[in-house]
Amino acid sequence: MSATIIDGKVFAATIRGQVEAYVTRLKAEHGITPGLAVVLVGEDPASQVYVRSKGKQTVEAGMNSYESKLEAGTTEADLLALIDQLNRDPAVHGILVQLPLPKHLDEDLVINAINPAKDVDGFHISNVGLLGTGQKSMVPCTPLGCLMMLRDHLGSLSGLDAVVIGRSNIVGKPMAQLLLGDSCTVTIAHSRTRNIADVVRRADIVVAAVGRAEMVPGDWIKPGATVIDVGINRIERDGRKLLVGDVDFASASAVAGAITPVPGGVGPMTIACLLANTLTACCRANGLPEPEGLIA
Ligand code: NDP
Repeated sequence: MSATIIDGKVFAATIRGQVEAYVTRLKAEHGITPGLAVVLVGEDPASQVYVRSKGKQTVEAGMNSYESKLEAGTTEADLLALIDQLNRDPAVHGILVQLPLPKHLDEDLVINAINPAKDVDGFHISNVGLLGTGQKSMVPCTPLGCLMMLRDHLGSLSGLDAVVIGRSNIVGKPMAQLLLGDSCTVTIAHSRTRNIADVVRRADIVVAAVGRAEMVPGDWIKPGATVIDVGINRIERDGRKLLVGDVDFASASAVAGAITPVPGGVGPMTIACLLANTLTACCRANGLPEPEGLIA
């Protein structure tokens, strides 16, 4: 058996197209342009690439992109003052502070200073609480993208056994909440889980968000299961630099019913969902209907 490949690039392009079409309508019918502010502190090369990519895709979707680049030595007070200014700016509907921040800045303090209604990363403690209690919130982009792909591929998720490997605040925990919200029976596995292979083997849905190259082999996968691989790991094999996931694609795709590749699976969905969240935040701020199919 060979798994269906869930193509994140194609799906992300569809989401971006839906966002763009909605933005065009917002402008024409209401004279409103959604705006996303991205704040980058310091010169971390990977963060610079992400921020550039976010800015480019924001503009391509017809939205306004505001980038604030602060030097690595920026004080907490100056960063909080900028966030306060963005919170009060009516042209800014979404605010994203690129993580990680330099060590001298308190990430929790900074994230919780963002107006929760503009917190398009969904990391503010209010949004975490709203998601946990099944209320309308801003949902973290990566798990939102995973949920969209699962719904698109499987239709209803109700009653399915789901195992999320990883319990981070940005992927594992919100992913588990979203699956629970869709009535899956959810297990969260982590570094202390006993007999993890047996735990994963029970799952109709496996979401791997660990950060360990090719940790999940095919013989952990229940035949026909849907596998979402969040991992992004850079490795070298036979002298070649490669990007691989947390799932061993070759063996898992021989057993699974469907699987996301790395690259080209979850990765492209994350920025698409950031654009979707910015649009949602803009609609909510203006009392307009939320874009259907683009929210959790
Ligand atoms: P974290 O390092 O924050 O969390 C990793 C989790 O994996 C922890 O909960 C840890 O358990 C668990 N873990 C570690 N080793 C094992 C093991 N041997 N068995 C079972 N569980 C284990 O990572 P993130 O959640 O931030 O990211 C996970 C992966 O997803 C990374 O590869 C990252 O690059 C990628 N990622 C991809 C994104 C995308 O857009 N595609 C976005 C965000 C992340 P414990 O808590 O017990 O230590």
